[in-house]
Amino acid sequence: MSDAVLVIGGGIAGIQASLDLADMGKHVYLVEKSPSIGGRMAQLDKTFPTNDCSICILAPKMADCYDHSNTTILTYSEVKEITGSAGDFTVTVLKKARYVDAKKCTGCGECTEKCPAKAPDLFNMGLGTRKAAYLYFLQAVPRVALIDQEYCIRMTKGLTKDGKPRCGVCKDVCQAGAIDFDQQDEEITLNVGAIIIATGFDPYDPTSLTEYGYRRYKNVVTAMEYERLICASGPTGGHLKRLSADDRDPKTIAFIQCVGSRDLHHNKYCASVCCMHSTKEAILANEHDPEIHSYIFYIDIRASGKGFQDYVARAKKEYNVTYIRSRVAEIAQDAGENPVIWYEDTNSRQVKSMTVDLVVLATCMVPRTDAVGLAAITHTALDEYKFFQTSPLAPVDTTIPGIFACGYCQGPMDIPESVAQASAAAARAAEIVS
Ligand SMILES: Cc1cc2nc3c(=O)[nH]c(=O)nc-3n(C[C@H](O)[C@H](O)[C@H](O)COP(=O)(O)OP(=O)(O)OC[C@H]3O[C@@H](n4cnc5c(N)ncnc54)[C@H](O)[C@@H]3O)c2cc1C
Repeated sequence: MSDAVLVIGGGIAGIQASLDLADMGKHVYLVEKSPSIGGRMAQLDKTFPTNDCSICILAPKMADCYDHSNTTILTYSEVKEITGSAGDFTVTVLKKARYVDAKKCTGCGECTEKCPAKAPDLFNMGLGTRKAAYLYFLQAVPRVALIDQEYCIRMTKGLTKDGKPRCGVCKDVCQAGAIDFDQQDEEITLNVGAIIIATGFDPYDPTSLTEYGYRRYKNVVTAMEYERLICASGPTGGHLKRLSADDRDPKTIAFIQCVGSRDLHHNKYCASVCCMHSTKEAILANEHDPEIHSYIFYIDIRASGKGFQDYVARAKKEYNVTYIRSRVAEIAQDAGENPVIWYEDTNSRQVKSMTVDLVVLATCMVPRTDAVGLAAITHTALDEYKFFQTSPLAPVDTTIPGIFACGYCQGPMDIPESVAQASAAAARAAEIVS
């Protein structure tokens, strides 16, 4: 028997569950796949309906979670195997090599500054590049650099004719002596009494929905890309501009709802947060530049949370946002690289078109691609969309006793709901390990 708990996934749901359990005096092992905890919330600019700065409210929780005496945070790590049952699970975790000694790294950024190799910046949704020696993002927790072996010159290019490494700049400039090219992946065995899955979502890739022109037209972006574009720590330093070569500031923006969701050919379900995040993004556009007019093309507006309907009313009244009840059929492009939206106005039942400076696609959110693998490892069932299966009267219980699921990995939900579920999962896990 063990009184420790394993939390898989360090987004807002996993962080909250870990904090609750740690405060109850339970030891928590938090396993996070990426190099930092924070999840999708760390990528958002602001949060609806309060427009709080997302990282400003998340960062203190990340730090509390990392610094808590009852938590062990394993980042850049994945669960490989689980055996046993409620009260007594044995878990094998693979901790991947960072090629940086976490105990020595001060997060000063010197290695990143001097590293000559560039790689796509996945935290910024591939908009722009980062270095091969990098910090996952500015407020990363832990604040420890890592080296991307796929792009590192030393690791990919081999030795020179006289047997010397082709690069080693990061090692030369690191005053803490933290760079360690000999570091190996490590396997760690944990014994826990309960498990909480909190692996969240991935944005749905709209490339296959060719009618929207994504990737064909530079000025058609996804909502996740837009969040990074308006964020002060994003690739443009928060300067909202078009991605076409003219670099122009947009004055008209169209937000298209239900891209790949509520769609029989893609994902049948409603992703639940898009009406509100598009409203937020339109409000923020107008806060950046009061001359911006936004148009939200929607099927119906789902504003059922606390304060949500008022938020929509304020967007219309105070922030130049027009809601158009419609079905978008196609997005074309004119000679000036301006997106042209062809749509049916479902109020007047007329086919119309509108030319705008920028289009933002509110794409569906889908379970992480490795949800199937994790379900196999944990022996838990998934529902028809591959979200972890739960039941109405036990909303955080999976199909396996002692294993719980919270946040977006078990169904579409916003941040407050994910936090509430995380606390529920923590309470259920605590019952088992107490
Ligand atoms: C464009 C956009 C804007 C949004 N704006 C808002 C908003 O303003 N307000 C709001 O309330 N909600 C908003 N949301 C929704 C919000 O992002 C989610 O509700 C929230 O992120 C869910 O948190 P989570 O912890 O469940 O999942 P995530 O944030 O996805 O975190 C999951 C974590 O698990 C990790 N992970 C995944 N798989 C594994 C694995 N196998 N092993 C270990 N770790 C793993 C991931 O790396 C990640 O760190 C928005 C969503 C989008 C797409």
